[in-house]
Amino acid sequence: MEGSSAPSLPAVGESLQPVVRVGDPRLAALIDPAAPLVRLADGCTWAEGPVWLPATETLLFSDIPNDRAIRWNEREGAVVHRRPNDFTNGNTLDREGRVIHCEHGPRRVTRSDGYGARTTLVDRHAGKRLNSPNDVVVARDGSIWFTDPPYGILSDREGYAAPMEQAACHVYRLAPGATEPVVEIETMGHPNGLAFSPDETILYVADTLYAVDPTASRPILAFPMADGRVAGPGRLFASIDPGVADGLRVDVHGNVWTSAGDGIHIIAPDGTELGRIGVPEPTANCVFGGADGRRLFITASSSLWAIETRTIGAGVAAAVARGEKVG
Ligand code: MG
Repeated sequence: MEGSSAPSLPAVGESLQPVVRVGDPRLAALIDPAAPLVRLADGCTWAEGPVWLPATETLLFSDIPNDRAIRWNEREGAVVHRRPNDFTNGNTLDREGRVIHCEHGPRRVTRSDGYGARTTLVDRHAGKRLNSPNDVVVARDGSIWFTDPPYGILSDREGYAAPMEQAACHVYRLAPGATEPVVEIETMGHPNGLAFSPDETILYVADTLYAVDPTASRPILAFPMADGRVAGPGRLFASIDPGVADGLRVDVHGNVWTSAGDGIHIIAPDGTELGRIGVPEPTANCVFGGADGRRLFITASSSLWAIETRTIGAGVAAAVARGEKVG
């Protein structure tokens, strides 16, 4: 989008092929092993928070250290969408197709139509400021689930350095219409990306404590859900190597598509790694989108990439992005 690409990376509009590494025959139902990976945008420092906006067939994402949102579509290519951007990180759609934003700067979760003014939904828990809401997902009941690690207050790189007011980093649930979030998970180090299984009986949450503590593990935990709430301790679903699982999505078959240091790892509901999409930069997140919902957009360090798949995303945001009514 601006400046030139690093020598080892293709120019915007060009692609890499093949990039898919098959680990299990089941992968062929999910992606063509010969599918090319196309680079759609460059010039970012840490691209994150992708969300597909169906009304304008646009992919919106955050370039956090540069405090800006970028939008990409076939008509415009990649252009700066919003700057400053409140050091926004994660974005998702709610059941009405509105965008929910996690903002590191004001340390809050907000809502907008993706283009106009934002409304604050929550910025405190128990009277104290949140750390820096990182990633967010909306459940079928309309509740907003978000993680609150400290990356927006550890330094001025992705927000504003400040002391932590919360005792720890939690996963919160904000009920529809509520202003006080409820702690659903308080046992993780740095909860980060999160997604539900298609039937919402499992909540997957990545822990990125490793980013600040090299002795930490790099897990995705699977928490049992009952009646729309976390109903027990998390079990180890996967350990990510290299890198960490930052953001992740689930497809309609329940497979987890997670970011990692070498691309996207695709993990079956039983925990088997089915394969990987090799990306030549550490990835932060991914999202299913495109006109048919089968295109996987990948935010990775300096770039936005995309690859065609043979599946579609699960969950409220993915269904709304396909034009389906949810709720
Ligand atoms: Mg994240």
